[in-house]
Amino acid sequence: MTAPPDADLSRHLSRGQIALGVAIGVLAAIMGILAVSAYIGINQLSEESLLFATIGDALSAQRTFQTALLTLGSLFIILNLALVLSVRRTIRRDFEQAYSLLAQELAERRRVEAALVEAKEAAEAANRAKSDFVSLVSHELKAPMTAIKGYADLLLVTAAGQVGEGQLGFLGNIKTSVEQMVRLVSDLADISRIEAGRLKLDFSRVPVDLLLDEVVSSTQSGFTAKDQTLVLELPEDLPPIYGDHLRLLQVLTNLVNNAHKYTPAGGQIIVRASCLDGENGHGVGDQKLIQITVQDNGIGIHPDEQERVFSKFFRSEDEEARSRPGTGLGLNITRYLVEMHQGKIWFESHYRQGTAFHFTVPAA
Ligand code: ADP
Repeated sequence: MTAPPDADLSRHLSRGQIALGVAIGVLAAIMGILAVSAYIGINQLSEESLLFATIGDALSAQRTFQTALLTLGSLFIILNLALVLSVRRTIRRDFEQAYSLLAQELAERRRVEAALVEAKEAAEAANRAKSDFVSLVSHELKAPMTAIKGYADLLLVTAAGQVGEGQLGFLGNIKTSVEQMVRLVSDLADISRIEAGRLKLDFSRVPVDLLLDEVVSSTQSGFTAKDQTLVLELPEDLPPIYGDHLRLLQVLTNLVNNAHKYTPAGGQIIVRASCLDGENGHGVGDQKLIQITVQDNGIGIHPDEQERVFSKFFRSEDEEARSRPGTGLGLNITRYLVEMHQGKIWFESHYRQGTAFHFTVPAA
């Protein structure tokens, strides 16, 4: 048998066309070539495509079936090698792409982190500036307010009989308003001290009965004016508290003032103190605790609002509560002060029935 008249397959291929030719032999002679070809984009004409075309060419050029078979065998090995190389190249290209994506993501992440750190530092600096400003303003306001309050007190005492009822009423209003301002300014100063970490406690042994006497004398006139009763339940032999006298007074005064403020006229406020023994009596280890409760039968706190009561600037939506003056700072500061004593503060409240605040502090 003769070889096919034109065995050079590549001459029949145009650019971008690939082909695979397989020699068909009968009795050790080439009968013909089975050729398969396909067009691919010129740019995609890869080394593998060229190899296919070359295989077709080489096979078609053989004169006998044996040599064609041998050539096919060798070309098959070459083709496999080429495939392995091609797969390796693909894997490597995919890996490089993934690596470069990862590197981009890492760079982006680093950029975001740096921006966050910068924003945090800026926010902290702004917060420090705000705290310093509040601290400065409250300090500057203290002196004139103390003077106004002092002179209003003096006038109220000395002016009786010399001015009419109306003027006495005005003086009383000046006194109440300035007292509110003093409280607000001192709360703001405390908040800025707390935020700046500058609030320090001065620990000593503080007798509970002394503390309660001081609270009663500073709040009694308010109770009388609202026809409310203040009941003290204090057991004998109560150990003193180990804490900061002025700050404990602030905690207790705030709770008693709230009870007075959020309880309608004629209501009752009970202040109860007890000692919790260590271990068995719910103290901490050997440490005895003093627990103080301030209970009222006032307007109560709606269940929906109870979670936020200790938050800074929290004021109730309840009309009954809103009609009373306040800043929403008292309980936030109170909780902070109790926790600085390693104590706890909590409450239970029944809407329109009353509220009981409890706190613990270490016994001396
Ligand atoms: P202020 O009394 O200045 O608004 P506080 O921080 O002391 O701020 O109290 C926060 C809020 O908690 C009050 O506005 C009030 O709604 C509620 N609250 C506190 N104590 C009582 C209480 N004894 N009874 C009812 N509501 C209370």
